[in-house]
Amino acid sequence: MFNVCINCGEYHADKIISSDGKYAICPACGYKHHFRRMPLHLVSGASGTGKTAVYHFLTGKVNEAVLLESDILWRSEFNKPETNYRDYFETWLRMCKNISQSGRPVVLFGAGVGVPDNMEPCIERRYFSYLSG
Ligand SMILES: [Zn+2]
Repeated sequence: MFNVCINCGEYHADKIISSDGKYAICPACGYKHHFRRMPLHLVSGASGTGKTAVYHFLTGKVNEAVLLESDILWRSEFNKPETNYRDYFETWLRMCKNISQSGRPVVLFGAGVGVPDNMEPCIERRYFSYLSG
């Protein structure tokens, strides 16, 4: 649970990233949590453009990154276009951040993940060095 401070126990998704990008600083107690600030690679596009085919082709062949399809977490409660699906994208960024802590970046396949307006405003975006698509 990266968002729970190991010093004070408070939950904060909005930790402050140190200027060198190596630490997530707890806004409650100032504890500096060392973490890996990795890129997040996004493979996006409209339905039927081949994202799933590429995903299946690469799965099992690429070991330098963790490949995931965004549909695996989709639930009806995320279907809130009035929020620009914010909870869904925050959940994915939190998931990818935690996976990246094992030392490999994530490649996330899905419609909408490559749209900057969906990912860039998210609180969890700060934990990635960059988003590429
Ligand atoms: Zn703390």
